[in-house]
Amino acid sequence: MPFDPDTLFFAAGICATALAVTMLGVWFQNRVDRFLVGWMTGMALVGTGVILYSTLPPDRIAVPTVAFALEIVGFVAVFVAAGQFVGRQVDWSRTSALCLAVACPVAVPIACGFDGFGIMVYNFLAAALLAMTARRYWIVRTEAPVFIAGITVLYLLSALSFLACGAMLLHDRSWVLDGRPDNWAEHFNAIMSIAGITGIGSLSLALNQSRAARRHRHEARTDALTGLLNRRALFDSVPDGRLQQGDAVIAFDLDRFKAINDRHGHYGGDQVLRCFADVLRQNRRRGDLVARTGGEEFVLVMRDTTLPLAISAAEHIRAIFAASEVEAPGGNIKGTASAGIALSQTADEGFEAVLNRADTALYRAKDTGRDRASAEFQTAA
Ligand code: GH3
Ligand code: MG
Ligand code: MG
Repeated sequence: MPFDPDTLFFAAGICATALAVTMLGVWFQNRVDRFLVGWMTGMALVGTGVILYSTLPPDRIAVPTVAFALEIVGFVAVFVAAGQFVGRQVDWSRTSALCLAVACPVAVPIACGFDGFGIMVYNFLAAALLAMTARRYWIVRTEAPVFIAGITVLYLLSALSFLACGAMLLHDRSWVLDGRPDNWAEHFNAIMSIAGITGIGSLSLALNQSRAARRHRHEARTDALTGLLNRRALFDSVPDGRLQQGDAVIAFDLDRFKAINDRHGHYGGDQVLRCFADVLRQNRRRGDLVARTGGEEFVLVMRDTTLPLAISAAEHIRAIFAASEVEAPGGNIKGTASAGIALSQTADEGFEAVLNRADTALYRAKDTGRDRASAEFQTAA
């Protein structure tokens, strides 16, 4: 091999530290993804340990004790970061206990002069932590299959390289070393350290970016107050803007909502909007679309139904909302809603045209007294 392991490990340490700084910069831009902080901390600890061990003058006690303790705690941080990535909260007391549980069996033997034994334990524990980290990513692979498969493979190969180093020390019963072990497993481990750190680092950044893009896409489609689809997302959700024969569109509008705002304030009004959205959400069928299309205007698109069924769905939602009370600081609020219903008459009818007919029916419901559902061809009480 053209490079000795010390040079390769030093390069790996520099890579880890440089990536840790990059991650810090990315995290400062958008402090949502906490797993970047865990990963960065892990890489900074591993990088410092590796640089210490490969650059400081040979010493069998102090330098390896500190270096390997830092590295193994760094791997715990990477494992914890994988937990954050999959949505787990950090349990600080368990994390501290895990750090102690892995650092002691590594540091104590090295500090007592059994550097070979301590480094063997380090290799096995690092392999276990990396394999457990790989498993955490693999569980959520559907989120970004290509990136996560790449990350998992790199963690597993790195784990394998540590396992090989530990197995070589165990096989040779090298409990006390006279210099850094130099065998094929150490070379494999040195190469995997560079490939693993840079590969996992760049894939983690790509994963972070794809998560941010997905979050922005979701925010652009969602009404922030109610969590329903917004107008644009509703139109995007109807393929080619066409409905099928038998699809119904129900347009809802809350009655005298301005007066609710005037009496109970904007906050009270918002609570009423949320309440109506909940009623809609809880009473739609699978496959139906529900959206807030404007201030106090909502739309329900029912697939494959009939006019009588759509009228009874609208009437049901109207009645449940009319019977609901919304708690607000100035006293409970009751509201009502009117609905207009239109049915797609032919295959491939334009969604916008059917929505306009539902709106016309809605105006009729308003004109005839509000708190009622009106279909394009008939009026329900
Ligand atoms: P109608 O029965 O004829 O529908 O009367 P209305 O008062 O409901 O209709 P109007 O269009 O006069 O008033 C709608 C009000 O909805 C006015 C606006 O301030 C309020 N509004 C729009 N968006 C929001 C919102 O996000 N939160 C709150 N609290 N109010 C909103
Ligand atoms: Mg309105
Ligand atoms: Mg209104």
